[in-house]
Amino acid sequence: MPDSTSTHPHNERSSWLVVGGGVMGLKIARDLIERGQDVTIAEAAPVMGGLTSAWNLGDVVWDRFYHVTLLSDSKLRDLLTEIGLESEIDWVETKTGFYAGGQLLSMSNTAEFLKFPPLSMIQRLRLGGTIFYASKIKNWRRLEKLSVEKWLRRWSGNGAFEKVWLPLLKAKLGDAYTQTSAAFIWAHTARMYKARRSGAKKEMFGYVPGGYARILDRLVEVLSDRGLTVKTSSPVQQVQSADQGGLNVTFGDGRTEHYDNVVSTIASPLIARSCDELSDDEKHKLSDIRYLGVVCASMLLKEPISPYYVTNITDTWVPLTAVIEMSTIVDSETQLGGNHLVYLPKYLPDDHDGLNESDADYQEKCLSTLEKMYDHFSRDNVLDFKVARAKYVAALATVDYSTRLPRIVTSVPGFYALNSAHILEGNLNVNETIQLGETKLAHEVWPDYQRRIAAGQVSDKPSPDLANA
Ligand SMILES: Cc1cc2nc3c(=O)[nH]c(=O)nc-3n(C[C@H](O)[C@H](O)[C@H](O)COP(=O)(O)OP(=O)(O)OC[C@H]3O[C@@H](n4cnc5c(N)ncnc54)[C@H](O)[C@@H]3O)c2cc1C
Repeated sequence: MPDSTSTHPHNERSSWLVVGGGVMGLKIARDLIERGQDVTIAEAAPVMGGLTSAWNLGDVVWDRFYHVTLLSDSKLRDLLTEIGLESEIDWVETKTGFYAGGQLLSMSNTAEFLKFPPLSMIQRLRLGGTIFYASKIKNWRRLEKLSVEKWLRRWSGNGAFEKVWLPLLKAKLGDAYTQTSAAFIWAHTARMYKARRSGAKKEMFGYVPGGYARILDRLVEVLSDRGLTVKTSSPVQQVQSADQGGLNVTFGDGRTEHYDNVVSTIASPLIARSCDELSDDEKHKLSDIRYLGVVCASMLLKEPISPYYVTNITDTWVPLTAVIEMSTIVDSETQLGGNHLVYLPKYLPDDHDGLNESDADYQEKCLSTLEKMYDHFSRDNVLDFKVARAKYVAALATVDYSTRLPRIVTSVPGFYALNSAHILEGNLNVNETIQLGETKLAHEVWPDYQRRIAAGQVSDKPSPDLANA
């Protein structure tokens, strides 16, 4: 997938460190290798993949956080084609449920939607109209100026807002919904509409057999064959301009290495802390970005609990954002050892105490909630239960968010801050992350690098000279 900006004379070969071995880091590494560069990835964790990384649940290896691919995820599908996995995607038609008023309801098509019991017919029509209208909006920047509450009350009316939108917003965003802009709802609606449009009006979700563990293994293998160096268990602590030009990078174990360029893909507040030389304005902008975090349980079960991939929850006593039954998509026999996989996520703002709740407390909360929600649910059905958490998942789309974003090309020569916080036209997902990485590398990072080359600011030695301090 090279674009016109990827052609370059071979003598402009310099060393790049990509900080963060998630999807964004891997995509940037791939595109830099494509441009003939020497690329190393430093990942803090012992394994690659960040939010897409996997773990063991019983004998099953699957993603720590649930992931599906949509038919419309063209950038991700291109990448999977490149590494030979796209043709293996298993596409499955999905159903959506709602837990409302103590009842589990199917909401998988328009007919079911029009019968949605908690709402009057007028409220249902206004709710449906709002979703349809949101899907038609092209100019998201207008929405970014309005609070999501104001916008939804205006279009759906107070009744539908109080009964449906408010519980959903609180479940997903906690109290941070009050600062969130209407672009948040637009991004979610647009993704779901795209999924249906490209799938003959059906909601088709897909996964690669073996899950993201397999995708990551193959991608790292392909990129390593092309010259990528991977350093896991290598947290970057500090990036500093070097006297000889380029940047000195200090790792958690005190080791220092020299690179001509560094692209950091880690969360914005962490980027602020990793480079003291950034200006105060840059540090403030990076630190001020609020994130949503998540606590997410993975549960391996003997029996399924529902036919729905997602069960949205509007009953406010339920302390979960949703119930995600992954095994309605992922084949139980071939992928999950004949068992069933359910995720129980709770999204919380990055400074919320709930992100530090102990595994045992979260497990007890989840199991007692499921016992109340599903008559047939029993703890004896649970084969394994594990809790994953992440503080920095998605930057919160606050009012006027895009006007406060820090620049990708920083004031420190050769240091680039390119992470998923720059996703403006969609919600956080792998496809958007890859697309953002590709576009911003091509249109901001690479032109700045070439400008520095032309100005003689990057050494023209053929390969990195790593110096241990
Ligand atoms: C619960 C949940 C459900 C999701 N569902 C879907 C889905 O269904 N479909 C979909 O497409 N997407 C989904 N996503 C989103 C998807 O996971 C993200 O879009 C993607 O993983 C973001 O990748 P990233 O590289 O930007 O960030 P990350 O994966 O967070 O990568 C950042 C990396 O930087 C590393 N790091 C941090 N600090 C340092 C340091 N100092 N030095 C070195 N390394 C460091 C971290 O360890 C991490 O590996 C989901 C995410 C979550 C949490």
